[in-house]
This record gives sequence, C-alpha cells and structure tokens, in this order.
Amino acid sequence: MALVIESPRSWDANAEWRRAAACRDLDPNLFFPVGVTGAALEQIAAAKSICAGCQVEDACLSFAITTNQEFGVWGGTSEEERRVLRRQWRARARAQREPAAS
Ligand code: SF4
Repeated sequence: MALVIESPRSWDANAEWRRAAACRDLDPNLFFPVGVTGAALEQIAAAKSICAGCQVEDACLSFAITTNQEFGVWGGTSEEERRVLRRQWRARARAQREPAAS
C-alpha cells in the first residue's frame, strides 16, 4: 500500500471526503470492533470489505494516519496496520526535516 501524505497540515484541507464515505449511513459499531481476535476479526474483515469499495479510502486513511486515529477500521486498515503506517510516515517526515548525517 502506497500511502502519500503531502503535509500534516493539509490532512483535512478537503473535508468533503466524508460526504462520499461508503460507511456514512452504516452502523459505526461495525468499524469499531471490540478487540482484535475472535469475532472481532470477522468484523474487521467486513469493515475492510466496505472500505475496499469506498471512493474516499485514501483520504480516510490519510486523515486517520495524520490525526492518529488509534481505534477502529479507517481507510481499509486495522489498528495494527495503521500503527505500522504511522511509524513509517513519521520516520519519513523526520528524515525530511533533518539533514542526512555525513
Ligand atoms: S474508507 Fe472505510 S472507514 Fe473510511 S470512509 Fe470509506 S468506508 Fe468509511
């Protein structure tokens, strides 16, 4: 998955993405399973399948990464997957700010 976030300040410059969310009229509980094992795995998979058909998946994921949404399924990712993506994003941001050591 290639996550491109141009600037932390522009994470929600166009908040209109929410209007096109495939989950907009669904039960939010589907996207916030309790736990990450057992029945929660099926719930996570069901939520992800909805995300897969969502036209604003990238914007949703960018929002979740940049605002550190720790819980639930956002942009087709689980909590654990987003932790990895957020670490990568922060590392890239640090590398861009700090000059390379020679
Ligand atoms: S990507 Fe998933 S969580 Fe995000 S708006 Fe779309 S359906 Fe909702």
